[in-house]
Amino acid sequence: MATKILMPMPDFPGDLPEFERRFADEAACAEYLRAQRWPRGFRCPACGHDRGWTNRRRAVECQSCGHQTSLTAGTVLHGTRHPLRLWFRAMWWVCTQKTGLSAAGLKRILGLKSMQTAWTWLQKLRQAMVRLEREPLQGRVEVDEAWLAGEKPGKVEGWRSARVAVAVEMDPGDGEMGRIRLLDITRSPDRLMLGFIRQEIFPQATIETDAWPGYEILAGDGYRRVRLAETDDPAHPLPQVRRIVTLVRRWLLGTHQGRVERRHLQGYLDEFVFRFNRRKSPQVGLLFQRLVSQGTQVQGRPYRQWAGHEPSGKARPGNR
Ligand SMILES: [Zn+2]
Repeated sequence: MATKILMPMPDFPGDLPEFERRFADEAACAEYLRAQRWPRGFRCPACGHDRGWTNRRRAVECQSCGHQTSLTAGTVLHGTRHPLRLWFRAMWWVCTQKTGLSAAGLKRILGLKSMQTAWTWLQKLRQAMVRLEREPLQGRVEVDEAWLAGEKPGKVEGWRSARVAVAVEMDPGDGEMGRIRLLDITRSPDRLMLGFIRQEIFPQATIETDAWPGYEILAGDGYRRVRLAETDDPAHPLPQVRRIVTLVRRWLLGTHQGRVERRHLQGYLDEFVFRFNRRKSPQVGLLFQRLVSQGTQVQGRPYRQWAGHEPSGKARPGNR
C-alpha cells in the first residue's frame, strides 16, 4: 500500500469572491501557507518549541529562541520574490479552469511581466500536481501505448513524435472511466511500459492489454492479464486509451496551441492527469487546498533548470 500522507483539515474558499476576500493580503496568504505546511502545528526546528508568529519576511519566528523558519524555502515557492497573493491566484486559476491555462493566459490574468515567469510558474505547479497522484490504480485497468499524434509520426518533431503509455481504471459501478495515468515512454517503450505498470497499478489488478508478448512477465508480479486485441500496434490503441489520447491531443492543440516542447511533455501529461482525475469533483476549492498543501512538499525548480542550462541533479519521481 502507498503510505498515506497527513492531509490538513478541509479549509478552502468555495468560489472566486470568497477566495478574493479571504486572500486579500500577504498576511492571510502566509497564515494559510503555514497551516498547510504544518498540519499538526508548527514546531521550531532549532529548539522544538511549538509557538511562533508569522512575520513580514515570510517566516515563522520562534517565540522561545527567535529562530526563523522560512515559509517558502523548499516549496514550489522557493526563492520567489513575487507576492504570495499572486501565487495563490495562479493556483486558484489553474485548479478552477476546466481546461487549464496556457502560459500566455496566466500572464494575462495575473498581469505578469514576462512569459518566462508565467511558463515557469506553471511548470512548478505541475511538480506539485504529480505528487497528488499517489494511490495506484486498481480493479480493472486498460493499459496500452499510443502515438500521441494518432498515427506513427513521419518527419514531425516535438510532442507529436511522442509515444505515450496510458492506463485507464474502469469504474466497477458504471463501467465508465475512472482515474488515469500517463507516461512519455518514447525513449525506451518496452522497458518504460513495464516500469509504468509496476509503479502505477496495484499488482492485484486485472490489466486489459493488447497482444504485446512483453506483458507476460508481469504475471510474476501478481497481475492478472486479459488480452483484448490480437495486435500490438501503437497506431491502433485500445478504445479507452484512444479516447484519452484524443483528449490529450486536443488539449495540447487547444489550450496550448500545440506549442509544447518535447522535453517538457511529461509535465503537461501530469497536469492533464491531475485535472482529468478530478473532473467530477464538485469542490474546486478542495483542489486548490490540495495544490497549496502539496506545493509545500516539493521544491520548485528555477527557470534555468527547466530551460536545460543546469542539470536538475535528481531524476523525476515518476508520474505518481
Ligand atoms: Zn526555537
